[in-house]
Amino acid sequence: MTETVEAPAVTRIPHWIGGRRVDGASGRSGPVFNPATGTQTGAVDFASVDEVDVAVQAAKAAFPEWRATSLARRAELFFRIRELLHERRNHLAGILVREHGKVFSDALGEVTRGLEVVEFCCGLPSLLKSEYSEQASTGIDVYSIRQPLGVVAGITPFNFPAMVPMWMWAPALACGNTFVLKPSEKDPSASLWTAELLQEAGVPDGVFNVVMGDKVAVDAVLEHPDIAAVSFVGSTPIARYVYETATARGKRCQALGGAKNHMIVLPDADIDMAADAAVSAAYGSAGERCMAVSMVVAVGDVAEPLLAAIKERIPKVKVGDGMDPASEMGPLVTAEHRDKVASYLDEGDVLVDGRDGAPEEGFFLRPSLIDNLAPGMRAYDDEIFGPVLGVTRVATYEDAVRLVNDSPYGNGTAIFTRDGGAARQFQFDVNAGMVGINVPIPVPVAYYSFGGWKASLFGDRHIYGPEGIDFYTRGKVVTSRWPDPATSRVDLGFPQTR
Ligand code: NAD
Repeated sequence: MTETVEAPAVTRIPHWIGGRRVDGASGRSGPVFNPATGTQTGAVDFASVDEVDVAVQAAKAAFPEWRATSLARRAELFFRIRELLHERRNHLAGILVREHGKVFSDALGEVTRGLEVVEFCCGLPSLLKSEYSEQASTGIDVYSIRQPLGVVAGITPFNFPAMVPMWMWAPALACGNTFVLKPSEKDPSASLWTAELLQEAGVPDGVFNVVMGDKVAVDAVLEHPDIAAVSFVGSTPIARYVYETATARGKRCQALGGAKNHMIVLPDADIDMAADAAVSAAYGSAGERCMAVSMVVAVGDVAEPLLAAIKERIPKVKVGDGMDPASEMGPLVTAEHRDKVASYLDEGDVLVDGRDGAPEEGFFLRPSLIDNLAPGMRAYDDEIFGPVLGVTRVATYEDAVRLVNDSPYGNGTAIFTRDGGAARQFQFDVNAGMVGINVPIPVPVAYYSFGGWKASLFGDRHIYGPEGIDFYTRGKVVTSRWPDPATSRVDLGFPQTR
């Protein structure tokens, strides 16, 4: 008897341009996997330069009407978007689990944090208010207004396929821009789903477009003369490249890069609380977070009890398919990335090796722990972006701060202590954009802005929150006079305030 084995269905993932799905015509595409099983579930179209241009032209054509849409109407639309996203958050979280691999509760957390940015943008009439000075000079009023830039683009990483695009499109659209998104080719379906939801909410065709693709699409965005600004989130080498290329072509650019986040534990810290925090922040989302804690800096004699407490917790972390409610940690995003992360376990004082006991199907690793890391070692210097926690032991608080400040990255950092004075000093001393005090992953709430320092951010505007509004608008100052024609005269002098 012959047995027929059905090949798993592979879904085509097209672009979204001018309010509809558009199949790619470049003849190039990339595979999308379910990381928990290792099977290919999708094939995503890769845009050519011409296809990117079609999307930009759609956004350009939609801009005049969108920017003229009243604040009241745009706010109303944002409330509708918020309601739909909230209603369907479980569905979106499921899409994330199946293409990224993170566990369902974590995916829901991602959607919720992204939604907070959409909620912030519902207040767009207040956010776009400006200033007015009556009688700045006799009979003269001066006021400022903020206007949208035009067509703006977002290029996003694989690790937050819903939230990071929301950091960009929500404020960009709220400010009256039209948008072209180039999501990660590893997990692109959330963006297509979002495009359909925005259309259903009533966002006019062409206001939000998605081009799928790789470097060809990114370069086409960076080179396009009709794109006024680019937001990027991803690894540091690409962030630097995007920033340099975009700004050299006269575009406004904010490019958020990678990280190596240190969590300092002082001798007076509560050991159990610090161990819980380190394990949660290092292994949540399989360490594929730019705000993950990847280094614990143990100060003084805290190292032994802290390591013992972390080691005790590691075997209890439940690793498995993200759709299984019992799972706490899912797989890595691709086999290639899993193998790269595992390569860091071939050297150093590996106390727990995550290759041992990892599920064989899919792209799994279990949590790993490496002791005695120091600058100059690969596992210390590199952003591993996986479930690998490094430990370094130092004698004093000053040594710990020096380590953080000497790091080329400056995204997030945290201190665990019961000493308010030490925590306050840390916030003063440390060179990083986001600081946690007994908080291991200090992602700012939506009404502050998110961003690191040093090689974690290129550009001078952080993302979302007030700085996001600033990034997606430009200021204009109007000086106005309604004189009585009888008082008019020629005056060649430089205008003075009187
Ligand atoms: P990545 O840099 O490989 O990719 C990001 C985007 O750039 C993707 O859309 C990708 O298609 C594109 N890209 C990749 N290679 C390119 C090239 N050579 N030329 C032009 N474009 C290219 O990043 P990733 O692996 O998707 O995401 C993980 C990285 O993102 C980590 O370094 C992480 O720290 C970082 N990240 C940073 C933040 C932050 O807020 N700072 C947030 C999330 C992720």
